[in-house]
Amino acid sequence: MLGHLMTDLFNNIPVTDTLTDTLQRPLRDLRISVTDRCNLRCTYCMPREAFGNDHVFLPRAELLSFEEITRLARSFIGLGVHKIRLTGGEPLLRRNIAQLVEMLAKLNTPAGKPVEVTLTTNAVLLSRQAQSLRDAGLARLSVSLDGLSDEVFRRMSDSEVPVKTVLDGIDAALRAGFAPVKVNMVVKRGVNDHEILPMAEHFRGGGIVLRFIEYMDVGSTNGWRMDEVVTAREILERLAARYPLRQVDPNYTGEVAERWRYADGSGEIGVIASITRAFCQTCTRARLSTDGKLYTCLFATDGLDLRTPLRAGATDPALTALIAGRWQQREDRYSQLRQAATTISSSQKKIEMSYIGG
Ligand code: SAM
Repeated sequence: MLGHLMTDLFNNIPVTDTLTDTLQRPLRDLRISVTDRCNLRCTYCMPREAFGNDHVFLPRAELLSFEEITRLARSFIGLGVHKIRLTGGEPLLRRNIAQLVEMLAKLNTPAGKPVEVTLTTNAVLLSRQAQSLRDAGLARLSVSLDGLSDEVFRRMSDSEVPVKTVLDGIDAALRAGFAPVKVNMVVKRGVNDHEILPMAEHFRGGGIVLRFIEYMDVGSTNGWRMDEVVTAREILERLAARYPLRQVDPNYTGEVAERWRYADGSGEIGVIASITRAFCQTCTRARLSTDGKLYTCLFATDGLDLRTPLRAGATDPALTALIAGRWQQREDRYSQLRQAATTISSSQKKIEMSYIGG
């Protein structure tokens, strides 16, 4: 329900205290895609067949400007968001991204706490940007890396980038003071699952939290199949056979990664079981696309256009009301529905379409 809409005098942000969706989930996190371009072509995300040389990316005028992003972010913050993650595409390809970090990191929640600004990157360009991102107020960094061998990395990212470039980026992040740095590895059976143990071995004891992600059926271009998913349970079994692990409590309600610690004190790992243990019931995330559409689920098919009213001169309270209205109607729980369906049928595509198509 939408509580009373007020104005936070200090920030001049319209605020409401009790916004929830139809499943009583509050709005807490905002992911902002700052570019639809990427310098890799990971086969499970932006396969070259669909994102080749002839692919038309958004023209510059379609992208939200930093000022527009910041303005919308203020509305989201007034509705309960206290964590913002910059993503993409590859966010480090967006020119002067540190400047956006600085603008967002200055925003406060209605309770007067600074908003936590984080970023997810493939780290190809991180070496030369880590320090300026830190100086701009970036709180945390996640790096995506799917294997340590150049051969596996090249095959998965469909690029000529050597793994060393990414590792250098991670080192630069550690030197800049990010602690811990999270490294996310998407595991695909038969492609990089033999890299699970080498990745664990490499990052143990080094101030890195390695997180293993179940390969997901996002979008419609990656030809996803359930038999290519290595489940979180299997990943944990493989790890635990080598390194005894102890489960750790979540940092906060709704944390997507299940946390485990090496029993010998060499740090922490996580598993993100998006497929086999869906976490829709605690999902508090909204997504803002590069061109300013609000999506309330990673698997949504349509978004609410915020850029048009923004550019047509809508006031802050009007934008806030639009966002609040959409959140109140939110009933997405795609992964839970898919999970229920996979136990009775293997016709993934049909089920996806009938549940979310339109
Ligand atoms: N370019 C940045 C990066 O590489 O981190 C940010 C965008 S990327 C889409 C964000 C994360 O989504 C990456 O960790 C990537 O591996 C993950 N991802 C993309 N497609 C996925 C899929 N089908 N299943 C699981 N994770 C996926």
